[in-house]
Amino acid sequence: MASRLVLRADLDAFVAARFARPAVSGLLDTAQRGAVAAAPDGKTWVTMHDDRVRPTHASADGQTVPANIPFELDKVDGSVGHDRAEKPRDPGLPFLQRVECRCEIATSGVVAASIHTSGPEVAGPRCRGEVSTIFERAAESEYADRGGGWMRSGLGAAARQVASRR
Ligand SMILES: [Zn+2]
Repeated sequence: MASRLVLRADLDAFVAARFARPAVSGLLDTAQRGAVAAAPDGKTWVTMHDDRVRPTHASADGQTVPANIPFELDKVDGSVGHDRAEKPRDPGLPFLQRVECRCEIATSGVVAASIHTSGPEVAGPRCRGEVSTIFERAAESEYADRGGGWMRSGLGAAARQVASRR
């Protein structure tokens, strides 16, 4: 008796859903965990909230940036651009931006908390997912000389996971 192999018409989609989806899901988890572990803290400029706070610092109050890049303060003379400061009283700031400044920094894990995954989604033979962050100045932080590469480190971990299966 002859037998005949009949392939499913939707074989690509079946394989993607059955095998690729869990594999991609694992890679997304790895990429997210790696990025979260490598993400810098968030740092927030906090003033004393009284009438002695200079206007350029009052407008920076609540500014939260990844800790590996500087805050941006309005110029004291009102000109275009910013003075950049790692922290209140940063020695690199102009004298009028740092003298008698009483501001502080609050740190938190807000950058790591901003890293999310979406997917995996199967569409025909393709399975895709995404690891992303939406955070003020995240790209500047990712490509900074100091502390950059935190999103890429997650992707690197996922790539190593794929390579180890060979
Ligand atoms: Zn201040």
